[in-house]
Order: sequence, then C-alpha cells, then structure tokens
Amino acid sequence: MSTYLLYLGVGKFEQITDRLDKTDIIVATIPGKAGKGRFALEVAKKSLDFYQSYFGIPYMLPKVHLIAVPEFAAGGMENWGAIAFRETALLIDERSDVRAKKRVTEVVAHELAHMWFGDLVTMKWWDDLWLNESFATLMAFKVIDRIQPVWKTWQDFLRAQTSGAMSRDSIRSTHPIEAPVKSPNEIEQIFDDISYGKGASVLRMLEGYMGAENFRKGIENFLNSHKFLNAEGNEFWDALEEACGDKIKTMANEWIRKPGYPVVTVTLDKGELILRQERFLLSGTAEDVWPIPIVMKLNGEPRRLIFDKKEERLDVDNLESLILNTDHMGFYRVYYKELYDSVWKSSLSVFDRWGIVFDALAFLTAGKISFPDYTKIVRRYFREQSYLPALEVSDQLAFLNTIAPSKIIEISKEFHREQFKILENMTDENSVMLQGIFANRLAMLDESYAKELASSFHDYDKIDPNMKDAVATAYARTYSDFESIVKKYRESASDEERVRLLGAMMSFKDASMIALSLGFALGGEVKRQDIGTMILGSLRNPDARSLTWTWLKVNMDRLKKLFEGTETLSRILISAIPILGIGRVEEAEKFFEENRVGLENSIEAGLEKLKIYDNLVRKIMFSA
Ligand SMILES: [Zn+2]
Repeated sequence: MSTYLLYLGVGKFEQITDRLDKTDIIVATIPGKAGKGRFALEVAKKSLDFYQSYFGIPYMLPKVHLIAVPEFAAGGMENWGAIAFRETALLIDERSDVRAKKRVTEVVAHELAHMWFGDLVTMKWWDDLWLNESFATLMAFKVIDRIQPVWKTWQDFLRAQTSGAMSRDSIRSTHPIEAPVKSPNEIEQIFDDISYGKGASVLRMLEGYMGAENFRKGIENFLNSHKFLNAEGNEFWDALEEACGDKIKTMANEWIRKPGYPVVTVTLDKGELILRQERFLLSGTAEDVWPIPIVMKLNGEPRRLIFDKKEERLDVDNLESLILNTDHMGFYRVYYKELYDSVWKSSLSVFDRWGIVFDALAFLTAGKISFPDYTKIVRRYFREQSYLPALEVSDQLAFLNTIAPSKIIEISKEFHREQFKILENMTDENSVMLQGIFANRLAMLDESYAKELASSFHDYDKIDPNMKDAVATAYARTYSDFESIVKKYRESASDEERVRLLGAMMSFKDASMIALSLGFALGGEVKRQDIGTMILGSLRNPDARSLTWTWLKVNMDRLKKLFEGTETLSRILISAIPILGIGRVEEAEKFFEENRVGLENSIEAGLEKLKIYDNLVRKIMFSA
C-alpha cells in the first residue's frame, strides 16, 4: 500500500454498520451524528456491489469505514478501507435538499471506486494523477446511473465535468491532462478541472468509441495484472488495446498529452459538407489537429468517422438536417456557421440541445457570433422542458448577469419566469431542484419577486429544503438584515444549512453588509473548509464585487497561510480573478506581480480569463 493512503483517526466516534458479502460497511461520525449516515451507508453498499461485478474483483479488505471529518479541505480522501469525508459529502437528514443527496452519492461512489483504482493499483507517480481521478469521476456517474436513474445523471456529468473542463481548457494557460509534476506546489495545482473533468470526458469519449464491454474488460485486465502494485498510464492503454483489438493508445495519447481541444467548423459547398478543425481558444483559434471520433447524423442517418486531419469533405446530395457530436460524447465543440437552420431541423436529444447552447456562449466570448445572435439561440430555450438545457441557459444568464447586468437582467427575468410556469407542474427531484436554483437566481435580479419570497424567512425551518437558498437570498436582498442571518447560522447544527446561510451573507445588495460578512468569514465562527465557498459566493453578486476584491488583496497573506498544503487557494484564485478583476485588469496584474502568492499557473490562468471577460463585457455593452 502506498503511504499516502494511510489513515489514522483519534477522537470520539459513533457508528452505524451494514454488511455486504464478507465486508463490514461502517459510517463513523462525531457523537450525535451517526444517524445522518444512513443514506451514505445505503449508497456505499450499492456502490460496492456494483464495483465488485464491474471490476470482476471482490472488495479486498474485511471492512470499509466512511468517516465524517468536521474540518476537511477536500470532499473526500480515499484512504484504503478508511475513507475520510467532509460532513456535507457524507451526512443527510430529513432537511437535506436534492443537491445534497446528489453530492453525497457522487462523493461516496467516487471514493469507493478508488478502493480498486488508486488503492489496489496505484499510479507510479503524480504525472498520472489524472488517471486515478478521471477514472473515479467517470465510475461515480456509472454508479449513480444505476442506483438513481431518475436523476438522469449523465446530464449532470456534462454540466459538472465536461462543461467545467472545456471552460478551463479554452485558454492558453492550460495544461495537458498528463502533466509533469516535480514539486508539492505543482501537485496542489493539478487537482483541477483538467485532471478530473477533462480526463473523465476523454475516457467517456474513448469508451463510446470502443464499446462499453470492451472498455470494462480492459479495466478488469489492467487491475488484475497490476493488483497490489504500481502502474503507469501506458499500461492502462495497453490493457484497453488488448481488450478491443484497436489502436487506442495513439489516439488516447493525442488527447492526454496536448493542451486544449478542437472546434469543428461545418460549412456546405456545392454538394459537399466540409469539416475543418482547429484548436478552440476563447481568445481566437490556433492550428492543430486531433484524432476526433466523430459521430453525426446527416439527414437523420447516423455516420461515424475518425477525423484526424485538418479538413474532411463528405458528399451530400441535399442537406436537410444535421447534427455533429451526437449526445455530446466527444470532447470538442461544433460551429455550424451558416447551417444552424439544418441543426434545428434535426431530431435533437437533450444532450444535443445542451451542446448547441453550451457552445453558443463560448462562440460569443470568442467573437465567432454576435450578442444578438447569441440571444436568438438562447430564446429558443425559453420553454425548454428538460433539466440539462434549462439549467445551462440559467447558468449562462446568471453568469452574464454578474458581468453585464444592465444588458442581461430583462432577458434573464423573462427566462426564469417562463421556466417557473413549466416547473410548477413537475414533481421529480431534478425539477424540484431546478425550482430552487431558479428561484435563488431570480431573487438576485428581481426586487418584487425577492420581497414576496423573503416573507417565508420567518418560517425558515419549515419550508421545503430545496427552496431555502432562495428564501435566504431573498431575505438578504430585501431586508439587509445581517444579524438575523447570523443568528440562524449560530442556531443551525448541520453544515449543509450553515453553508446555505453563508451564501445568503454574500448576497446582500448593500456593500457594508458584505463587509460584515467577510469579517465574519475570518472571525473564527466559519469552518476553514467553508471560507472558500463564501468567497466564491461573492462572484454571482455584482454588488459585492468591488469590496470582495479589496478584501481579497488585503487578506491574501492570511488566506495563503490558512489554506497551505491544500488546493483551496488555487481554486479560489482561478475562479475569482476573472470576475472580481473586471474593470481593473491592470490593477490585478500589478497586484499579482508585486505580491508573490505562489500558485503561478492558477494566477496566470485567472488573469488570462479576466482579460477575455473584460473584453466580453465591452462587446455586450456596445452591442445593439
Ligand atoms: Zn478522487
């Protein structure tokens, strides 16, 4: 066993147990909380059962502990047989919302996948960290798909993994999935969207290409031939090649050893459909070629090809309908230029509809489409009935509202109100969750809506947990009452509840209230693990931006010490710089030049994205 997998816990614990075959499954917490581990215990049992048959190898230890640690930098850590979790990633009670249940399910399933992939077979060096993490990430979604089919989890996969990774990988300051690692500082910075999300998305693309059973068989062979040993990424590809008899390795290496990803531009010329590929960048494009396993529907007929050169021409007699990257299995974007009409004529899956609007924002940012063209596409989704595309549009409008509120506020209000009419009649868990998220966003934009919702704050403990974020936000926006929110925070025993109230504290309209909240963040009453969440909570609030930026600069040294040895500060900076720095690019560059924070890669990436967003603001503000 590798030393990084050792766990030693000292303290008073309380536990609940279950059993699967010869394995004891145990959830341990500090006294008084074990009952909240029932949900996770059930997930753990089902996950183990799934993995034993998927990997074809029984769980190898007599027990597995799942331990809730009160203060924890990550979501979970896969120590062998004694997995540590942040409380919000393990504990669920009758007041938990759908989002919390999804998180617990995902983190438990992710960490248990590591018992085989990571613990039974450990990577030789940190260069291959991605393989551990992207694999566990992908496997978790396979488990969720099996045990909670109503969540339609591949929709969440695209939103959480593929989307985050493509966004991170759209700038020049990115890194290949397989990154050389020499120092602890570099290790801290690679626990990012590339190692998890891009790696998982590329594995999913290759699985789609090889077929699910070949993929599974290859993994089983890999684990069996390296168990209780170390392995390298190359040996993983060897095992996959052996299973499917195809040349996977060359293709895989192109995707994992090169930064970035392609955009395929589709045009029509005299009976020929022309595909061209280049590297997609938010600041333009660059010449490059990937071996893209293209799956497309041309006039309703499925077509497959490996597109591994700059240009490809396909004969087409009469183009009626067209969609590339069907079901968004591939890690690339598609720009249809003049052909969007043919796209709308295709029968589009929920993943296809998501992909088109997901790409639209990137194309707006990169200057490929204009702001009016972008809103034209978005308007097609106002009456969207499916979870993923509806949430994507809401995400985009919420993001654009943080950077260019005056141009977005009306369209965003309209979209969210239309969606409420649709969601009103829906009772499945995804729709219930959407209602809460959309209400929370509308409460940020719409004073009269917020005022209406805020009145429920007096009955806060009794309302549907999925609506609590929205009600707390609405109350903060309407009444600027810091004291009442802090009082609720102090009375709450669960971290899930406390994190919600911290979110409300960053939603005030009044900057002096934001100042109180940021003071509270470092005042000793907020767990260290939640301070980052609080800082990032300011990003959606245009009224908090200026103050949070100043505060961040003043407290940088303190935050650096606070988060030493974890990836937390790296994650904060890469997300916060591009938003908080808008309108003060030079000041931000100067600050990081004069203050050596370390974490150079994350800061460089943050500053590059800042310039891109700063331009985007101008583009939107000056458009008709
Ligand atoms: Zn992991």
